[in-house]
Amino acid sequence: MPGSTSSPKRSKRRAVIIGGSMSGLFSAAFLRQIGWDVDVYEKSGVELVGRGAGITTHPELIESLIACGAGIENLGVEVPKRIELDRNGNVTGERPLRQILTSWDRLQRLLRETIDGAHYHLGHGFERVDQDERGVRVQFANGKVEHADILVGGDGIRSSVRGDVAPELQPNYAGYYIWRGAPNEADLSPKTLKEIFPYFVFYLPPQQEIITYPIAGFDNDLRPGHRRYNFIWYRVADAQTMKDMNVDERGVQHEFSVPPPLIRRDLIEQMYSDARDIMPEVMLDCVMTMKQPFITPIYDFTAPKITFGRVAMVGDAAANARPHMGFGVAKAGNDAQALARALRDHDDIDTALKAYNAERQPIGNTIVNHSRKLGTHMGVNLKTEEDRRMHDLLNSDGAMMDWIAVPNFLDAYK
Ligand SMILES: Cc1cc2nc3c(=O)[nH]c(=O)nc-3n(C[C@H](O)[C@H](O)[C@H](O)COP(=O)(O)OP(=O)(O)OC[C@H]3O[C@@H](n4cnc5c(N)ncnc54)[C@H](O)[C@@H]3O)c2cc1C
Repeated sequence: MPGSTSSPKRSKRRAVIIGGSMSGLFSAAFLRQIGWDVDVYEKSGVELVGRGAGITTHPELIESLIACGAGIENLGVEVPKRIELDRNGNVTGERPLRQILTSWDRLQRLLRETIDGAHYHLGHGFERVDQDERGVRVQFANGKVEHADILVGGDGIRSSVRGDVAPELQPNYAGYYIWRGAPNEADLSPKTLKEIFPYFVFYLPPQQEIITYPIAGFDNDLRPGHRRYNFIWYRVADAQTMKDMNVDERGVQHEFSVPPPLIRRDLIEQMYSDARDIMPEVMLDCVMTMKQPFITPIYDFTAPKITFGRVAMVGDAAANARPHMGFGVAKAGNDAQALARALRDHDDIDTALKAYNAERQPIGNTIVNHSRKLGTHMGVNLKTEEDRRMHDLLNSDGAMMDWIAVPNFLDAYK
């Protein structure tokens, strides 16, 4: 972080960070830059690989990656334009827009390399935090106890840190979900490779969205022939239907989503059958070559504040937008950077956390509200005249190409 000098009077300060993914690692990198000691605690007992799939990049994400020291080496695949298809696979519109599409794995690898292994602790599930004016005492499920000046909650949409300090804040189901997958480039037909693989593609049947783009292959392989094709299919399901879909292959009910290998065969077969009914040949090719399609129900929430005494929330744990802008990791980076900047600029930690909250809580709200606007395309829960107006706008010719995952959308709110 430029100008990252802390006051010589300050004693060494320390943060405990919960969550070893995007926002946790960004926080660790930016806090270390201002001279803090940091330790990251991740619940998973094994390194985080193979989660998520494609990630749209934004200028804000690139800036955060560079500023925190992770860099952007071999970040992803660049597309030259967006195209929209009709039922027959004809191109009905296009927009020139260069964009780099990366993958969750690539970002995790770049960020993970910024932290010394001695300060990254797998297999530590946060349990609770106690705090007083001197700092925090953090209790982990395995019995470990840590002390620090602040606790950073970077543990995602279902944050246990938030659950401890603000249990009333719960994510809301948006009324729709996505089927996702990433077929291998090598498995796609020559027609699919020629007509859609190089592009960011939209296919928009009524109350559905199918969005596809190329990403790196296994182990960040960017060589032609070795990449993958990110496939996202938004579909409507009311809360009861979603609950039924969250019963796994063994009959076990899951609260939020079913782990990919346990998704019921009958749901996958139904998805294939629906795809055959509505999709152009090139899209159907993607569906039929996905190795393990999985379901992500869409949730969102905002919080009236993102700091709770000496606890600061970052990334999805602070506010979670629907994924229509592809901005979650950029937000994680920007939250972490703002937190470190506030702690650098204010000697008093409590004042710094107030400044962080004042800067980032409203931006979190704006991002979530913008994602709800874009979600009106799906035509569910349209409550206001503004919702219906936005729904109609997004359903007009070519509009989705101008709104979904476009760079610099926050400029409109400045
Ligand atoms: C379908 C979809 C598409 C998306 N597309 C994009 C995109 O194109 N671009 C983009 O920027 N973003 C995108 N996102 C959002 C992005 O994935 C998230 O915003 C990002 O992963 C948030 O990072 P995070 O570190 O805050 O949370 P997470 O990545 O959820 O990480 C939280 C971590 O905390 C750990 N944890 C949880 N509980 C505990 C505990 N009790 N103790 C210790 N550790 C714990 C978890 O194991 C996890 O590793 C998309 C999301 C979805 C669902």
